[in-house]
Amino acid sequence: MSATSTAALLEGETGAWELVVGLEVHVELQTATKMWCGCSTDFGGPANTNVCPVCTGQPGALPVANEQAVADAALLGLALGCDIAEVCRFHRKNYFYPDLAKNYQISQYDVPLCHDGRLDLDVTTDEGEQVTRRVGIERLHMEEDTGKSLHVGESGRLHGAEKSLIDYNRCGIPLLEIVSDPDIRDPETAQAYLRELQAIVRTLGVSDARMEEGSIRCDANVSVRRPGEELGTRCEIKNLNSVRSLGRAVRYEARRQIDVLEAGGEIVMETRHWDEGRGVTETLRRKESVTDYRYFPDPDLVEIHSSRAWVEQLRARLPELPAASRARLQQAGLSAEQAATIVAGGLLALHDEAVAAGAEPVAVANWCTGEVTGQLSSAALTPAEAGLTGAHVAELVALIDDGTLSTKLAKDVLAGVIEERGAVPPAEVAEQRGLQQVSDEGELQGIVDEVVAANPETVEAIRGGNDKAIGALVGQVMKATRGQADPKKTNELLRAAIEA
Ligand code: ZN
Ligand code: MN
Repeated sequence: MSATSTAALLEGETGAWELVVGLEVHVELQTATKMWCGCSTDFGGPANTNVCPVCTGQPGALPVANEQAVADAALLGLALGCDIAEVCRFHRKNYFYPDLAKNYQISQYDVPLCHDGRLDLDVTTDEGEQVTRRVGIERLHMEEDTGKSLHVGESGRLHGAEKSLIDYNRCGIPLLEIVSDPDIRDPETAQAYLRELQAIVRTLGVSDARMEEGSIRCDANVSVRRPGEELGTRCEIKNLNSVRSLGRAVRYEARRQIDVLEAGGEIVMETRHWDEGRGVTETLRRKESVTDYRYFPDPDLVEIHSSRAWVEQLRARLPELPAASRARLQQAGLSAEQAATIVAGGLLALHDEAVAAGAEPVAVANWCTGEVTGQLSSAALTPAEAGLTGAHVAELVALIDDGTLSTKLAKDVLAGVIEERGAVPPAEVAEQRGLQQVSDEGELQGIVDEVVAANPETVEAIRGGNDKAIGALVGQVMKATRGQADPKKTNELLRAAIEA
C-alpha cells in the first residue's frame, strides 16, 4: 500500500496530461419531515400531495429549520473528519428555479456547517495495484431539494418537450452538499469516493443513498493540465446517476479536453450534461459565477449555534464506519474482497450476528457473499425484508458442520427460510421438507450393502487398486438417497464394506 497519490497520467499527441477531478455530491436526508416545514418526505406518492404554504413559497409562510436534519448533517461531517462551525447561518441563493417556487434556494454560503474533512480510499488502479488515496473535503453544507420537473415529449428532456409538469413533493426535502477538494487524479478514485460516501451515509442511517431514486447525486468538476502546472479550466458534469456513469463521464471528458487543447483550442468554463446512451458530454449552459446568485443571509431563519457539548454528544454516537468494519473483518480472516462485499452489500449486521451466535467468521462470510447474496438479490429482498437473521446463518453453518446438511441441501434450506420470511428456522425447514442428510448409520448401512452387492465388478476393481472407482459407488448411494446421503459417512461405510 502506498499512501501517496501517484497520479495516473493520460497520454496525448503532444505528451502527458494530468486529470484533476473534484466532486460535488448531494445527499437527500431521510428525516420524517422536510427541511423547513412539517410535510412528509415520503418518496413516490401522488404528485403535489406532500406540500404546504412553506414548501410552495406562498406569501407570508415562514420556514423553521429541521433540528434532526442539522444533527444528521453534523454527524456526517464528523464521520468525514470535518470541523463543525460554532456559528453558521442560511443564505438565499437567487436563481430562476421552475421547480422551487420561492425562486431562491435556501443554502449556506460563507460559513458551511462542516468544513475541512477528508476521506481515505482504498483504490485498485488500472494496473491492479492497491493504493490508499486521501481526498480532502472542502465543505459540507445544508440546503433544500427542489421539486421535480417532468418534461412530456419524446426526449423526456426540456428541449423538444410539448409541456412540462411540476411535482413539488420533493421540494424542501433536506439536502446536504458535500464538496471535495480537487484531489482526485483518476476515474477509479472518483468512483471509490462516491461508493465510500454512499456506504458511510448508509452506515450512519441518515439517507438510503439510492442513486436510482436520486437520493444521492453526483456532479464532477473535471479539468486537465500538464503535470506540475496550475489547475486548468474546469467543466462541471451533471446527470451522473450511477458509479459507472461517473467513471465513463470523467474518462470521456478528460479525453475531450485534451483533444481541444492539443488542437490549439481553449476550454470554456461551463456546465455539461452527460448523455448516458451516447456516452458523451455536451454543453448545457455557461457556468454561472458565484456573484450571479446574489447570496444574502435569509432574514427568516435564525443562526445555528453548535455548542461543543452537542458536537461531542454527536461524536459519541458515531458508529463503526465502513473502513473500520472492513479492517475488522479482514482481521477475522476474510479476504479484502469479501469484507468489501459484506460492508457495501448491507450484510454486516447479518455477519456480525451470525458470528456472535457462535459461527466461524470465514464460513459465515462465504455464505453471506455467496448463496445469501445470490438468493436475496434474485428475490430482490434485503436480509431484513427476507426475515433472515444472523442466527439463521449460524444455524445453517452448524447444520453443515454436524453433517445434518450437505452444502447443496443447505442452499435449499436457505431458500426455504427466505420463502417463509424467516418464520421457520433452518432445522425446522430441513425437517418439514425432508432435506436432512441421511447420516443415520443403520439406514445408510442398508443402502451401502445393497449397492456393494449389486456392483461386484466395481468392488473387485477397487480391491485391485483402482481407488477412483469408489466414486461410482458413492454416486449410486447418492442416487438412492436423492442426494441426501452424507458423503463423508458414505465413503467410510463403503470402504468398510469393500474391505470386509
Ligand atoms: Zn411543506
Ligand atoms: Mn447544491
